[in-house]
Amino acid sequence: MKIKSFVLGVVLVWLWSVMPFRLIALSGEMFLVRPGGPHLVQGSTHYWDAINLEARLEGNGWSVTYAPNLSYHGQRAYGLTIPSEHAVIVDADLSWDGRYAILAHEGGHTLQPIWAGTQEGDCFAEGVATVLLGDGIRDHARFLGGVRWTCLGVFLVEHRAIYRAAAVLND
Ligand SMILES: [Zn+2]
Repeated sequence: MKIKSFVLGVVLVWLWSVMPFRLIALSGEMFLVRPGGPHLVQGSTHYWDAINLEARLEGNGWSVTYAPNLSYHGQRAYGLTIPSEHAVIVDADLSWDGRYAILAHEGGHTLQPIWAGTQEGDCFAEGVATVLLGDGIRDHARFLGGVRWTCLGVFLVEHRAIYRAAAVLND
């Protein structure tokens, strides 16, 4: 009996060390919240984080520009990643904190797996942003609420890549 609890303890500690808890929390929250648009944070607390992340993306070979009134397939967008041009474009009207959140998401897109389509890419990118920003889970979950099953699959398959991408962007 003692050996059994010891083995169980070791397994639990091992799980604790490898499981991505932030993604588990995000997955749980995705199924609880109603889907909604991105939360546009105000403020400039993350001014330097945004500047540093921008520099990191440029260091990785991506151009970062700011432009007003972005859209994607006729829909309002706050950030765009264009892989063929190695370009990231962020809405110029956002606050610095808003820009940082969008840069984190677009940064995720720059490192997403090649197999990912539009929805899978957004799951991956927002997963990276959730890990990188270290803020509340709710708004990330809302953003992904419409594609929760797809995201659950992406998190299960790609959680290591998501954490690795966040580490690269935070280097
Ligand atoms: Zn996206």
